[in-house]
Amino acid sequence: SNFDLNRMIREVCASFEMQCQKKKLGFSLVFAEKKQMVNGDYPKIQQVFYNLLDNAVKFSKEDSEIQIRTEQKGTKVLVGIKDQGIGIPKKDLGKIWERFYKTDISRGKDKAGTGLGLAIVKSIITAHGENIDCVSTEGVGTEFSFSLPAMERVEE
Ligand code: ATP
Ligand code: MG
Repeated sequence: SNFDLNRMIREVCASFEMQCQKKKLGFSLVFAEKKQMVNGDYPKIQQVFYNLLDNAVKFSKEDSEIQIRTEQKGTKVLVGIKDQGIGIPKKDLGKIWERFYKTDISRGKDKAGTGLGLAIVKSIITAHGENIDCVSTEGVGTEFSFSLPAMERVEE
């Protein structure tokens, strides 16, 4: 179905308000358009944002910013989610998509989770015929970028 992705993002961000207050985190939303229509499975794409923002919030340093970008390029909508968190060691970057995989630093007792979030994210993006990538620097931060199908234009 077709829906406004930017609106969905604002809503998912709002659900993290309490955790953000506790860690003094802010969301910065960089939207090329006010409304960004996409064609996809609403609850599944909501799950993608929930899982990626849950990670961004969990692994962010206190008093930092999480930036979310959306922009349409042709028939795709490009999305970026960037945090200023602990980062992911190079040797782990290829494995984070596997079920139950967690890096050593994220196994600390305050970093709860079973290691399923990203495996679910990847399967949802792939099911929409799109891709997701991760670029990260240890101690600096992490960015996830992916695409979604833009709303199909009806020619008249
Ligand atoms: P779950 O999502 O099931 O609650 P999880 O968050 O540990 O558990 P994933 O979301 O699949 O699992 O992420 C896998 C691992 O990738 C994390 O444990 C962490 O080591 C690393 N990771 C994911 N996102 C980030 C991020 N934004 N910053 C730093 N490390 C990350
Ligand atoms: Mg997770």
